[in-house]
Amino acid sequence: MDCKEFEKLIPDFFERKLDFLTLNQFNKHRLECEDCNEELVISFLVTKGIQRLEEGDAFDLQKELEQYLEEAERKIKLHNRFLRIGEVLEILAILLIVVAIIWVIV
Ligand SMILES: [Zn+2]
Repeated sequence: MDCKEFEKLIPDFFERKLDFLTLNQFNKHRLECEDCNEELVISFLVTKGIQRLEEGDAFDLQKELEQYLEEAERKIKLHNRFLRIGEVLEILAILLIVVAIIWVIV
């Protein structure tokens, strides 16, 4: 993912619209690219700040942003775990087939 793509995805990120693969790449780029991370923080403060001012809510945006980012990372971790379970099951299935074949031959 490059910086332009990242920038385009920022609004979707805040609306939790990114799918896992995109979210994963988005998060990776954020961790690698300081400019984009800054961009993300600024657009969060701007969009959410305006929204909150209109609503008249007391707000702790920094904390809220951290929650967004943590949630994203949790999602990615969970998804990766599922992928790994899938891989293990696949290997087990292959092993079973191999055993079955050997069984038939012997
Ligand atoms: Zn970037």
